Amino acid sequence: MNAFINDLMGKMTLDEKLGQLNLPASGDIVTGAASSSNIGEKIKQGQVGGLFNIKTAEKIRAVQKIAVEESRLKIPLIFGMDVIHGYQTMFPIPIGMSCSWDMELIEKSARIAAQEASADGICWTFSPMVDISRDPRWGRVSEGSGEDPYLGSQIATAMVKGYQGDDLRKNNTILSCVKHFALYGATEAGREYNTVDMSRIRMYNEYLPPYKAAVDAGAGTVMASFNEIDGIPATANKWLLTDLLRNDWGFNGFVVTDYTAIMELEEHGIGNLQEVSALSLKAGIDMDMVSDGLLGTLKKSYNEGKVGQAEIDQACRRILEAKYKLGLFEDPYRYCDLNRAKTEIFTPENRQIARETAAQSFVLLKNDKQTLPLSGKGTIALIGPLADNRENMTGTWSVAAEFSKSVSLLDGLQNAVGSRGKIIYAKGSNVVNDKELDAKVSVFGKPTKWDDRSPQEMIDEAVAVALQSDIIVAAVGESAEMSGECSSRSDISLPENQRKLLEALLKTGKPVVMVLFSGRPLTISWEKANVPAILNVWFGGSEAGNSIADVLLGKVNPSGKLSATFPQNVGQIPVYYNHKNTGRPLPEGKSFQKFLSNYLDVPNEPLFPFGFGLSYTSFDYKNLKLSDSSLTADGKLKVSVDVTNSGKYDGAEVVQLYLRDMVGTVTRPVKELKGFQKVFLKKGETRTVEFTLTEKDLRFYNSELKFVSEPGDFKVFVGTSSANTLEASFKLE
Ligand code: BGC
Repeated sequence: MNAFINDLMGKMTLDEKLGQLNLPASGDIVTGAASSSNIGEKIKQGQVGGLFNIKTAEKIRAVQKIAVEESRLKIPLIFGMDVIHGYQTMFPIPIGMSCSWDMELIEKSARIAAQEASADGICWTFSPMVDISRDPRWGRVSEGSGEDPYLGSQIATAMVKGYQGDDLRKNNTILSCVKHFALYGATEAGREYNTVDMSRIRMYNEYLPPYKAAVDAGAGTVMASFNEIDGIPATANKWLLTDLLRNDWGFNGFVVTDYTAIMELEEHGIGNLQEVSALSLKAGIDMDMVSDGLLGTLKKSYNEGKVGQAEIDQACRRILEAKYKLGLFEDPYRYCDLNRAKTEIFTPENRQIARETAAQSFVLLKNDKQTLPLSGKGTIALIGPLADNRENMTGTWSVAAEFSKSVSLLDGLQNAVGSRGKIIYAKGSNVVNDKELDAKVSVFGKPTKWDDRSPQEMIDEAVAVALQSDIIVAAVGESAEMSGECSSRSDISLPENQRKLLEALLKTGKPVVMVLFSGRPLTISWEKANVPAILNVWFGGSEAGNSIADVLLGKVNPSGKLSATFPQNVGQIPVYYNHKNTGRPLPEGKSFQKFLSNYLDVPNEPLFPFGFGLSYTSFDYKNLKLSDSSLTADGKLKVSVDVTNSGKYDGAEVVQLYLRDMVGTVTRPVKELKGFQKVFLKKGETRTVEFTLTEKDLRFYNSELKFVSEPGDFKVFVGTSSANTLEASFKLE
């Protein structure tokens, strides 16, 4: 590779080198405000390194042909896309996927996404998104894996492996891009693109681990985030992109900016386009998404002595290396097989896996008096603005999906119930009452299907339908585009009109099952108090409706566990399980006490804790045992617990292990997830679940940012959620 690239770079002019750093959007699919033009001409001039948001082997082949036949040096282009949770076969949105706690399934979903995307000409995905977030107001919590660095790291690893496989040169593996580096999920007040400010110790212990895990798993590229870090936007942050990423972590792929991020540095107030482009390059950016800053200004900066040849060469080399690793120099049409798409995309097999995966992502939040599962007999009234909406089922970031091919809940229930029972339907309400807001959340071909009738008329119709039923299934929540990029909300409750619909349905006296669609944790205290059963289904993807029916009717027993805390109200945010203790902690289960750390008007406990999720069966935990009372630096400690399926259904349980470091040179969280196992137990079955701890599991970044463990007392907790565990103690010698 080195010899090949040295030789090639020896022939390249400065302009051609800068061309490699340029990544315009094709205009085929719009994901940002800017669009580029004259791309064909630029490709011939050698002014384009890659293109994104273009699909189909045919189109990509045609564009690649220009590059390899009409540009002077015939350097192939790299083709990227936001393949975030599936390509055309859509899997659940990432926060949903993370609630499956099933690394094999997650890896498989990324594998299928890579298979389908590569069959359509794409060789690079802007995924995984691994931003930790504790703020559900931020719309992009839907795109990440929740609040926990350990779970987030496992998922980051699984995704990278799934996309890249074991050989990037294969025509069905694609290059992955871990994003958004870094800390984007800590945006102030949950407002999109907002300022981030945090201590290094928090970064290292709580926010950086998933990015590092992706890099360690071999992610070939990294995308810089929009936010600032220590006062310097990530795109121009040399500490972040060079000192940490390359020098400390040993990353050797290339770094791409986010959409127009170089241009945006002007708005951040750190210089004009020429200045910020030079700053970005020097900080460690290799490829410029859409800004035209590197291509447009670096030559001038070079001539003025403001950037050096070596800096430009280095960025160019990294991009050529990625192309080399993908095998594009050997065969620029490697991903442009015109036959593959017909047999490899949206196949029944892939959809079946998506269906199984989605069912694993749902979280049963409440199930009083075993309202669920439904028998499927009698009459089910399916009511709600999300019941009959195929276009919304895939959720945010589903750019290659054909929305109308998704399975709605109405479709799914009808498929499942067949002639056994009867489904009757009414819309009941719009997603929101405000028409202007409705337009904002009906974008990207995912309409909410606004109904012009008055709210009361719709409720009256729904009640009339409900009265003819034996049980009501209320399909309520957010529309697909109420979360995702630039969909921050300051009020994360169920929209008022939907709440009123629920009230009216409950008044009928029929049992009500709430099927909650959402892209984020919602504040649903009233619903928790009043509705007998709540199944959170996020956005389940292409097969959503079938998967939901599978769970509602008990074909699949739900086993999803929350990867993010549900707050009681917005005022509690940020509320997360792995918090510190304070000097005046309120004892668990106690209500307000003066001069302790609490609120006058809301308990400290969240609505639903991290790791929480019910099943149709019940699991009992007994006999938490440690193999020893102490652990030595090179020893192993076995932690075991007996888990019994004590209910009436077979089912899966995610057994969770948490640690607490009781005394440290710096304060440590009250609990930290350090292990989990998803086990399937037949009813009545008991299994001894075993974890092995070593000194490495006890390490953290100390005040000098050294990754160390400290001898002393530890607690270990094992249980069904972060808030419901057995505990034991040991010492690290
Ligand atoms: C998003 C990225 C995405 C990029 C390209 C940006 O607006 O922040 O996550 O990969 O657009 O579509």
